Amino acid sequence: MIDHITPGFALDVLKILGIDGKSGEVVSTAINVESKHLHHKDILKIQDRELKPNEVDKIALIAPNATINIIRNFEVASKKAVELPPTIRGIIKCDNPSCISNSMEPIKPEFGVDGSEPIRLRCRYCGHIMEREDILQQF
Ligand SMILES: [Zn+2]
Repeated sequence: MIDHITPGFALDVLKILGIDGKSGEVVSTAINVESKHLHHKDILKIQDRELKPNEVDKIALIAPNATINIIRNFEVASKKAVELPPTIRGIIKCDNPSCISNSMEPIKPEFGVDGSEPIRLRCRYCGHIMEREDILQQF
């Protein structure tokens, strides 16, 4: 179960996970539900699906308050908040076409985090700013 997703972003999280309902996953989605801490939130319950580390990193970019709860036998077996690291490496590309990280050179794209809610990433090479919509386009 992925809890405390930024309201309105559960469907984007499903897209990150590559879940479109056609491969038979059992998914429940709650969008814009009341929450004590955040006023509103989205929740996803996905059966029998473990998240890969790079999927968790992508979720952190668009839902930095999300928590990932593993539920076994109707009990919470583990609970972990996603983490937005101060530097984002290799997950997304800079969308400035003339950025050196988009040239033929073997440079890994790297971004500093200017803000988390909403997300604002600054390219370490050209200073270009990437916002949530720009990031979502790459997922
Ligand atoms: Zn750049």
